[in-house]
Amino acid sequence: MRTRISNVRVFDGERRIDRTTVLLDDDRIVATDDASAEVEIDGSGRTLLPGLIDAHTHVFDGDLARALAFGVTTELDMFCLPDVLTAQRAAARRRDDVADLRSAGTLATAPGGHPSQLLAAPEIAALGLAPFDTIAGPEQAADFVRARLAEGADYLKIVIDDGSVHSTSLPVLSEQTARALTAHAHDAGLQVIAHAITESEVLIALEAGVDGLAHVWTDVTGGTDDLADRIAAQDVFVVSTLVYFEAITGQRERTADCAVPGSFDDAMRVTRALHRAGAPLLAGTDATPYVPAHGSGLHRELELLTAAGLSPLDVLTAATSRTADRFGLSDRGRVASGLRADLVLVEGDRTTDITATSAIAEVWRRGVRQVRR
Ligand SMILES: [Zn+2]
Repeated sequence: MRTRISNVRVFDGERRIDRTTVLLDDDRIVATDDASAEVEIDGSGRTLLPGLIDAHTHVFDGDLARALAFGVTTELDMFCLPDVLTAQRAAARRRDDVADLRSAGTLATAPGGHPSQLLAAPEIAALGLAPFDTIAGPEQAADFVRARLAEGADYLKIVIDDGSVHSTSLPVLSEQTARALTAHAHDAGLQVIAHAITESEVLIALEAGVDGLAHVWTDVTGGTDDLADRIAAQDVFVVSTLVYFEAITGQRERTADCAVPGSFDDAMRVTRALHRAGAPLLAGTDATPYVPAHGSGLHRELELLTAAGLSPLDVLTAATSRTADRFGLSDRGRVASGLRADLVLVEGDRTTDITATSAIAEVWRRGVRQVRR
């Protein structure tokens, strides 16, 4: 089955091409020729983008379908319970009406550490699922990483969060444990992504040698610019998740009458500092079955990244090729011959107006044209 998209403006993952033709043959993008195609799409007035990649989500039943409807063709899950992950992986492999999936599997946190306060053992049992592994000290790091490899983890997520941003106090991984986990994961060929929410937690993650941060941090002090410079110098990527901070700040303002750390405004300030420093930003939402939403949340994230000073082209790169490169997804993230036909066609010129977001005309996943509802 061949599909030709003609007269279309293309964002190829890095640059804008004003008017061109893109040809799909089954599940691949191929070099154009003059032979006929079964499906002809008029791309006039529209922009063709690589399928979007959300670099921070949590996947439950139904989420991957919702993501794909909004042009998010790949989700990078940052913590999924083992039984849930097995089912979602099978769906992503078998079906073409859901987004593709990579996952950290079980995250590394101290016994009772974040997110145990949100997802306690009784709640997990109520879902009919087993409690998740935790790690008490560096001597357990080798076994912990081995268990993640057995789970099929694509990377390791570690949690360095003492609870202060959640207005509580939680057990947290020691610096030695963070370092041991990172070393063992790297030996096993896994990247390490840290959840760290304050400057001091980010410093622990950087000292441990992590490859990326799962959020921007949200306590703004005089040290923000220096820390951003260090992250840029170490070439550590940062997943933005601004829409997550926007969602939780809104909830807090409704329930608390005093200022709390971890605000959206601080997250925006840190993002601006990272952008100024030239640190590699990846677009991600921290989407869950609640808020932010899968799919639509990423479009809001792109708007917020623009508000933080990134150009529309830079924002699109942060949601496509840069994330693919950082996560070793060499078969996607670009509109180029030979790559997977994961594509989204939007109305208008997304390379100059990122807010033309919800106007999705077509989505292809592995070359399969999605039914628009
Ligand atoms: Zn998360």
